[in-house]
Amino acid sequence: MSTLLRGGTLLPLKDHPRPMWGDLLVSGTRIAAIGKIETTPADAEVVDISGCVVMPGIVQTHVHLVQTLFRGLAEDMPLLQWLRARVWPLEAALDEASLRASVRLGILDLLLTGTTTVLDMGTTKLGDIVAEELVRSGLRARFGQAMMDAGDGVPAGLLETTRSSLDAAAALTKRWHKASSGRIGYVYMPRFALSCTRELLEATTQLAKLSDLLVHTHSNESVEERNAVVMATGRTPVQYLLDTGIACERAIIAHGVHLDDQEIDILRTTKTSVAHCPSSNLKLASGIAQVARLRSMRITVGLGADGAACNNQLDAFEEMRLATLLARVVSGMGTLTAADAMVLATREGAKMLKLDGEIGTLEQGKRADLLVLDVTKLDGPGGDPAARILFGGGSRSVRHVLVDGEFLVRDGVATKMDANEVRAKAGEQLQPLLQRAGLV
Ligand SMILES: [Zn+2]
Repeated sequence: MSTLLRGGTLLPLKDHPRPMWGDLLVSGTRIAAIGKIETTPADAEVVDISGCVVMPGIVQTHVHLVQTLFRGLAEDMPLLQWLRARVWPLEAALDEASLRASVRLGILDLLLTGTTTVLDMGTTKLGDIVAEELVRSGLRARFGQAMMDAGDGVPAGLLETTRSSLDAAAALTKRWHKASSGRIGYVYMPRFALSCTRELLEATTQLAKLSDLLVHTHSNESVEERNAVVMATGRTPVQYLLDTGIACERAIIAHGVHLDDQEIDILRTTKTSVAHCPSSNLKLASGIAQVARLRSMRITVGLGADGAACNNQLDAFEEMRLATLLARVVSGMGTLTAADAMVLATREGAKMLKLDGEIGTLEQGKRADLLVLDVTKLDGPGGDPAARILFGGGSRSVRHVLVDGEFLVRDGVATKMDANEVRAKAGEQLQPLLQRAGLV
């Protein structure tokens, strides 16, 4: 089966941000041809994309699907209070049904706004439920259970032993790594330095290295958290990640807002990459990451919406818009253009997940993970498509979303999920969840 997207503007985001006019042929799971395609294959469905822009599917390098039900439930608090008073008690109160409803709602939000790949951190339990829903959804994902064997204010329902945390990660790896023909993969996820023993971090490093898996953690998010790590370990957060072996070219840290020169140098030399989450960093009053500076040091930076409890949207177009706007103010005009922000959310994100050979650009032979955007739905003024999409509320233009050549959103409607049912199920779970968490 093949699909011919006929007659639109293509943004391959490969070497340069310039758009081209043409067609794109999807054959099976891959892009078979791009450019002017004269002959229509006999088995091809032809889809008219006039007035539309085709771009690579968005890769979000930091999200928490299990927190989607917490949207609006943890407002006006800085990071550590936000975790201890709201997010951790709510995570501890998740049961199978509420966690499943939360994950499904998050996946629906992501697909309808053009995200095709995520790096998702779960909670310390029920990782199989997250995996089942990712497999079912068609979304491409790297996911992991959060690892927490220590920490002030961690509820008993979340706290693991070092052994149980490592065993759970190993078991989930065995069951889900490379599931759905490699569309799903497992990642080791120690939550952050303050919720992990040194022993857990060091063992995680060893296991991830042995199995050649990525490692994902939060670091250098707020001043308070940074100071707490220094107090607890006597090292800056990134020095501590280096000491414990976590910092390496398979590691992705979320945030990286408060980094000193030495820490930036460690990230550079170890090839550790950074997931920039501008909405979350602003909403929790954490600060503004020095994205242009990190990129000038050749540190790979991707984008993420983080969780619904600290954003509250999962719309990556909003993260791209904020990334370019903040960089202009912090580092100067031209340091991160609209097209650059698109590259962070596609090609660079794919590189961080070691998927750049497969996704992240529109190229013949790559997997057909792509978006068709009806830009006539956006506010003017026309002109450069990247700027028009980013500054015009890009997610409103999402018409089709394909992963592995399959339409997961068609004409703005999710094809594998009933949006009304997903939202209704999430609504049903909310009150019981709040009661279990002791928040009503
Ligand atoms: Zn996070």
